Amino acid sequence: MGTDIHVHEVYAGRVLQGAGARTLVPDEIERLGARRVLVVAAPSSAGTAQDVATSLGDRYAATFGRPVQHTPVEVTAQALALAREVRADALVAIGGGSAIGLAKALAVRTGMPQVAVPTTYAGSEATPVLGETEGGVKTTRREPALAPGTVVYDPELTLSMPYGLTLTSALNALAHAVEALWDAEASAATRAYGVEAADGILSALPAVLDHLGDVGARARLQEAAWLAGACLAQARMGLHHQLAHVLGGTYGLPHAELHALLLAHVMRFDLPAAPDAAARLARVAAGDPVGAVAALAARHDGPTTLGALGLPRTALREVAERVAAAPYPNPRPVAADEVEELLLGAW
Ligand code: NAD
Repeated sequence: MGTDIHVHEVYAGRVLQGAGARTLVPDEIERLGARRVLVVAAPSSAGTAQDVATSLGDRYAATFGRPVQHTPVEVTAQALALAREVRADALVAIGGGSAIGLAKALAVRTGMPQVAVPTTYAGSEATPVLGETEGGVKTTRREPALAPGTVVYDPELTLSMPYGLTLTSALNALAHAVEALWDAEASAATRAYGVEAADGILSALPAVLDHLGDVGARARLQEAAWLAGACLAQARMGLHHQLAHVLGGTYGLPHAELHALLLAHVMRFDLPAAPDAAARLARVAAGDPVGAVAALAARHDGPTTLGALGLPRTALREVAERVAAAPYPNPRPVAADEVEELLLGAW
């Protein structure tokens, strides 16, 4: 294939959106013709999982309620044993990226169809990508069989997100849009998604932080996060996601908080080398995208530096060297010394 030809993939095939959309999960299962549903739910979604289980009636088989961040293979093995024991033939994932990631790991091992019901803004439901950890090393794979066929966005399920998770998860989503905008090979559709996602997050997030229970603002934020998740699926992620990948996978640091505290630092590093992305972001951020993101990150009520997250100063060099040794596509070349300096700023 010629190098000028772009392939634009779209996930998921069906997206249901709106307050109360979770009540349509049984209809989606019926469409799939499934009879034995395994529900994979985060502990924070136990109540919703119970309601969905009840609404599924005799199509409900079991619930696995202990997904873990970064999809450790040992946890996947436990859930797989349960799926086999109850002869599950479809998956409903309810929760953040951890629950959705576990369902993906099960789907790719069994061929079961998935209905994803996200409760954070991480965006995993929109991608054919899975990061799994084994022995402290996180590896990422990408294949169409990983992507849920149906996604149900119900903003009412995001109302329970506490202030800090709301903020950090939304900035995690924003990072997908920002990196898509500076991917030189991103399609026109992806750039449009990126601008709409960044605009939506930068305008809805402050409103949500002021009124966590505002369903309308939550719906706008969730919609923007959906588009950001599509950016993650469609574009090549760069230095920001690589840093989060190495720091999260190797040091077990929390995914959304890492993204939130790193983003402004990476934007300050990369945007001068990505004038097109800088111009698009400036239009949706009152001329100062780095300042807007840094100001939002500073509103966090939890750790806002790598040091406060528990990363020892001595780890920065190792992370910088690993990132520079296997660079992701990035608008600016990545040398270990510069990455260490960036990390020191975030530390
Ligand atoms: P998470 O799923 O681990 O959730 C974080 C915490 O918030 C958990 O304790 C969870 O129970 C709780 N929670 C979730 N929704 C809630 C709600 N509505 N109200 C109250 N509490 C709630 O975190 P995450 O940031 O959503 O996802 C991170 C994981 O997803 C990581 O493993 C990351 O690698 C993965 N991820 C993968 C992709 C991909 O495309 N493969 C994309 C994004 C994230």
